[in-house]
Amino acid sequence: MGSAGRAAGRDAAAVTGLECRIYRVPTDQPEADGTLAWSDTTVVTVEVQAAGEAGLGWTYAPAACRSIIEETLRPVVVGSDVFGAPGTNAEMVRRCRNFGRPGIVASAISAVDIALWDLKARLVGLALADLFGRCRAAVPVYGSGGFTTYDDETTAAQLEHWTGELGIPRVKLKVGESWGTNVERDLRRVALARKCIGDDAELYVDANGGYARKQAVRMGVVFSESARVSWFEEPVSSDDLVGLREVRDHVPCDVAAGEYGYDEAYFARMVSASAVDCLQIDVTRCGGYTSWLRVAGLASATGLQVSGHCAPNLHLPVAMAVPNLRHVEYFHDHERTDPLLFDGCQSVVSGELRGGTDVLGHGMTLKDVEALRVVRPVLRGLEPRAVDARFDELFFDQIGARPVALARRDSGRTKCPPKAERIGSRRRPELLAGQLVRNVSFGTKRKEKVYRAPAPLTEPCEDRRRAGHRRRPARSRRCARRRLHHVLKYDVDRPSQPD
Ligand SMILES: [Mg+2]
Repeated sequence: MGSAGRAAGRDAAAVTGLECRIYRVPTDQPEADGTLAWSDTTVVTVEVQAAGEAGLGWTYAPAACRSIIEETLRPVVVGSDVFGAPGTNAEMVRRCRNFGRPGIVASAISAVDIALWDLKARLVGLALADLFGRCRAAVPVYGSGGFTTYDDETTAAQLEHWTGELGIPRVKLKVGESWGTNVERDLRRVALARKCIGDDAELYVDANGGYARKQAVRMGVVFSESARVSWFEEPVSSDDLVGLREVRDHVPCDVAAGEYGYDEAYFARMVSASAVDCLQIDVTRCGGYTSWLRVAGLASATGLQVSGHCAPNLHLPVAMAVPNLRHVEYFHDHERTDPLLFDGCQSVVSGELRGGTDVLGHGMTLKDVEALRVVRPVLRGLEPRAVDARFDELFFDQIGARPVALARRDSGRTKCPPKAERIGSRRRPELLAGQLVRNVSFGTKRKEKVYRAPAPLTEPCEDRRRAGHRRRPARSRRCARRRLHHVLKYDVDRPSQPD
């Protein structure tokens, strides 16, 4: 943007509109860490408008965020100074006083704050990285995923993707399985990871608060000595600052935490307790770019490095702006989800995120929403089997994405060759796009089976009937409903009304 554009930007004194949308994208297969399991990622996007420009922000949080954004934050944002993101951020925090800031409220504020900064940068014709001021040309990342639900083959393939294809010299594995009750498998998976990545790459583990204090110390020592683990994330609950400090004092690897920091005071308490070696800050939770930069300053003043938690594309501008950055988390779910929804995402090359300097704002825009919006009407009225084929065509092909693990399994390395007639008898079949069924049961008796369904889910019921089995129309309908429900999880929610 030239000087005329910048002048127009200065004249555009007020935000004129705000739109919030929700997208829910299923994971490519069931995922879990030490203390939580999930099957989809919900993305809440915010667009703010002024002078013909739009700024984009988002958070990974429950759809309930939209109520906070539309009912409470919109009145603060619309009409506010387009160049006054910190002031608007403070007013949003004040308006939410009675709701409790941590959690959904802070996630909502974060999405709006990011959108406001993006809008400002676009109006003045700058990349956000330049607006914040750069101190590095590229941002180191670490590969993050390694879920406890993965079998060895999947874990090895993901590690190879990071270290081999993307050249990332540091990777992270989830441990603390089932709240620390399966340490034998933790140790075996960590040993497998070290074997897969070789001697040169750094190996991190994340227990997500799954261990008890003494247990975490014992595990940390073993991880370090047996597999040269150098980063132990949330060995105990992040709320247990004394416990984090105790572990930090007794293990050789660095202790990290901070991903549940929803306000600056949280990080101040963590720093005061000397609980961590590296402070993790999540720009989609802590209060957006405004708060992320303040917390990074707090860490710098106390001699700590910071790491961007998840959301690698959104972290890029601020990660380039602070000297005390260690790295940004390149999280598997967001590696999949972001390119599905946004144009302009950056790619990892030789273990680093580059770019973000020859763009306006953070450089990302919401993909053609109209293209996404056609999914639901087209699917209505179709038979479940037709829905699946049509959905794949509309969503994955049109949006240009295909789950990595699915593609890999499609290449013929599928485990457990199936018996078609057994598919309908599975208790929890979860249909992935395409024709794969994976059944995972959590609990003390773990069963994991992945196999290729030679036909859609409703087929086995029909097969049984043809084969003379007792007719079970109710079962067939249940299959169809479950299948349809899964497909509709991809649906794009109806957008809010713009101002
Ligand atoms: Mg973590």
